[in-house]
Amino acid sequence: MRIGVLAVQGAFIEHRRMMESLGTECVEIRQKKDLDGIDGLILPGGESTVQGKLLRDLGLFKEVQRLIAEGLPVLATCAGLILLAEHLEADDTTHLGTLPVTVKRNAYGRQLGSFVTRENVGSLEDYPLVFIRAPYIAEASDEVRVLATVDDHIVGVEYQNQIGLAFHPEMTEDCRIHQYFLSKIVK
Ligand code: GLN
Repeated sequence: MRIGVLAVQGAFIEHRRMMESLGTECVEIRQKKDLDGIDGLILPGGESTVQGKLLRDLGLFKEVQRLIAEGLPVLATCAGLILLAEHLEADDTTHLGTLPVTVKRNAYGRQLGSFVTRENVGSLEDYPLVFIRAPYIAEASDEVRVLATVDDHIVGVEYQNQIGLAFHPEMTEDCRIHQYFLSKIVK
């Protein structure tokens, strides 16, 4: 199995290391041909505006959107979640738009810009959640499964082939989310 990690900007190395620690081959995606033959895709955290622009400038945008729409399993964290969202709150921008949710960027304001807490994520108990200038999901359509909430705000969802997280599992030692993602691909 081969997993692609979008490597145009942001925290892609951490995802790569985690995948490799699980014995999974990981390729960095910077151009269209890097997408050939991948079985899953990771969209890392970083700066969604920059990532969205680079996806377009590097000619990756349409192909990534098509692959996800056709069912390629995708794990998106933080800025990656913003890229997937169908809508952004108080913002007309849409990037890939494949995940039927409304995401609020920088939702925790300045004072609580970064924090760590623990919650269950789907069936994974007591997971460490690392938030860095994080968004949350303000609205999700009925078909979207909520995986995690913090203070009544949705911070993790699953919809068909897409997992979208407001937090950063790649910045912890806990690889259960990456394992879960891989188990979805094997099925
Ligand atoms: N604040 C960033 C954005 O809006 C996301 C932060 C992150 O990925 N850690 O794109």
